[in-house]
Amino acid sequence: MSRNLTDTEPQTGTGPPPATEAETPKAKKQFHIDIYRDWCKSCGLCAAFCQKQVLGRDDAGAPVVVNPDACIGCGWCELHCPDFAISVRPKEQAAPPEEAD
Ligand code: SF4
Ligand code: SF4
Repeated sequence: MSRNLTDTEPQTGTGPPPATEAETPKAKKQFHIDIYRDWCKSCGLCAAFCQKQVLGRDDAGAPVVVNPDACIGCGWCELHCPDFAISVRPKEQAAPPEEAD
């Protein structure tokens, strides 16, 4: 008895297969980073713990947000700030513009 080993189905359609959910690119989340200057003592811990180099320090050593798009919202800067002087929260989706009356 012979067996057909070329077990291929004929391809239908001309384009690439539809992307599965796993292959669909997701919109990157973005985050607001707020630094409360009155509470910050410029210790530099937040910048030191930021694994994405989102935070830098100015000439006086105060933290500055230098690369906000790289933030992944891990919260390490917040977690390590001894003075609760930095806050990271997700940006909301852009709301539709309100209609003027
Ligand atoms: S949340 Fe994470 S990635 Fe974003 S600034 Fe803080 S430490 Fe850096
Ligand atoms: S860890 Fe807190 S106090 Fe220290 S530099 Fe960052 S925001 Fe300022």
